[in-house]
Amino acid sequence: MAQMETEVLIIGGGVLGAVVARELSRYKVDVILVEKEADFGWGSTKTNMCIVCQGGDTLEFRPEYHRSKLVWTSMPLMEPLCQEIDVPFKRVGELALIRNNEELSKFQKLKARAEKLGMNGHQFIDQDTLRQMEPHVTRKAIGALFDPNIAVVDPVRLTIALIENAIQNGVDVKRETEVIEIDRGVNQFEVQTSRGTIQCRYIVNAAGTSVDKIARFVDADDFVLYPIRGYVGILDKNLGDLVKHEIHMRPDEIGQMNILTPSVHGNLFFGTTMQPAMRGDYSTTRKIAQIGLKNLQKIVPDLSEKDLINAFAGFLMFRNWEVGWHECVVQPSRKVPRFINICIGYPGVSAAPATGREVIELLQREGLKLESNPKFNPTRKAPPVFNQLSEEKQRELISKDMRYGHVVCRCETVTEGEIVAAIQRGATTLDGIKFRTRAGMGRCQGGFCTPRVVKILSRELGVNEGKITKKGWNSHLLLYKSKELIEAQT
Ligand SMILES: Cc1cc2nc3c(=O)[nH]c(=O)nc-3n(C[C@H](O)[C@H](O)[C@H](O)COP(=O)(O)OP(=O)(O)OC[C@H]3O[C@@H](n4cnc5c(N)ncnc54)[C@H](O)[C@@H]3O)c2cc1C
Repeated sequence: MAQMETEVLIIGGGVLGAVVARELSRYKVDVILVEKEADFGWGSTKTNMCIVCQGGDTLEFRPEYHRSKLVWTSMPLMEPLCQEIDVPFKRVGELALIRNNEELSKFQKLKARAEKLGMNGHQFIDQDTLRQMEPHVTRKAIGALFDPNIAVVDPVRLTIALIENAIQNGVDVKRETEVIEIDRGVNQFEVQTSRGTIQCRYIVNAAGTSVDKIARFVDADDFVLYPIRGYVGILDKNLGDLVKHEIHMRPDEIGQMNILTPSVHGNLFFGTTMQPAMRGDYSTTRKIAQIGLKNLQKIVPDLSEKDLINAFAGFLMFRNWEVGWHECVVQPSRKVPRFINICIGYPGVSAAPATGREVIELLQREGLKLESNPKFNPTRKAPPVFNQLSEEKQRELISKDMRYGHVVCRCETVTEGEIVAAIQRGATTLDGIKFRTRAGMGRCQGGFCTPRVVKILSRELGVNEGKITKKGWNSHLLLYKSKELIEAQT
């Protein structure tokens, strides 16, 4: 087993661990990031609505909450960050639908509050303007509160880009490396992982839904978190133009939040119920998707079940009511020096840019000496996305590399060239290819392209197809060769 040493160890390669790694790479300091999965952003970061929000139309973002400060400070930082590291960012704007005068007066108060808190640009839209902006929205809406600042991103691509930029600038990143125990010495921590021991002076614990479990190894869990499961449904790309803005309604009498949003890739996402659940239980059922769809039809009545192509569940970590359900944990442990816990149940993607900066300050306060890295390069270039290029650029790319002329995923028009580029940048699994290129994310959900992607992975990685997994560890896709199995049985 390997023995490693570093100044700072980041646990977790979700959006928050990634943003901290990238911020630390601005300085001359040894950093290792460990992630237990085979790729980055596969925790809460992938089970997401992809909205960069600021909560101007809800009381859940109280000025006294630390979380609010992180979200509001991040708002102007997200677009420049996405430009620097070349990830898609789309400012779609948000429409909070108003159904009656009682809701109107609530929204008037919320608008005034948002302005007082420095959130600018909110405006009321009357029914006719709403109809022009969104012709398919329910006729029951008498207007909407419009926030033009709201945007969408791809959280997994954001995370991968942050990690790639951190690696470029010297951070050591280890995947399929799970932290299993931490011992606290006088001046350092000894961290046992599935791939060896790491000695470090500082720990940034960004383990998402396991943040409390990791903190507990050294009694640094001076906070309580409750897992809440949320569901997201994905609608067919053919409906991409049905709505252009993120649209939602206030929770109804049974507390269901109805929300529909475009994504940067052209699909519509909808989010519905949230409920306490056992951590790690990501199960979804058709019934849950149907309830979600029924709620959604209150916003866009034309939608039907055949428009739904997939649904998934994810976990948000909520705090207790004394602190505030929606408050976050971004703080050094009160009991254990040099141990920083970070967990933002919602909206951790939106709050990421400011969280990264704040963790640097916290580490400095804990004693970490930081000197600028003169070689820091803030830019990172994404690989080409074939279906977003002009015909001329597509031809140019194919003339340089024929593999860009071979479409592997027909639903999303993903080429062999893109899949090979993803492998060269670190994808080793079917899901790695899916989240990096979108192969398998379309209407057929990988029915057509999966065997082809497996063949390319096997060829490029130089391993037998039987060794290719869906998502690392033991998730093998091919268990037996059917002919051998039949022969063995006869
Ligand atoms: C349904 C839903 C919708 C959401 N919608 C939005 C939205 O629209 N906008 C928004 O801003 N936010 C949204 N959020 C919230 C957002 O997804 C989270 O706040 C954010 O992703 C948290 O990022 P993270 O890096 O802290 O956690 P994670 O992404 O969970 O990352 C933690 C990482 O730590 C790794 N890890 C865990 N244990 C170990 C270990 N022992 N060793 C090594 N690694 C470990 C995990 O594998 C994981 O990759 C949503 C969340 C849900 C559930």
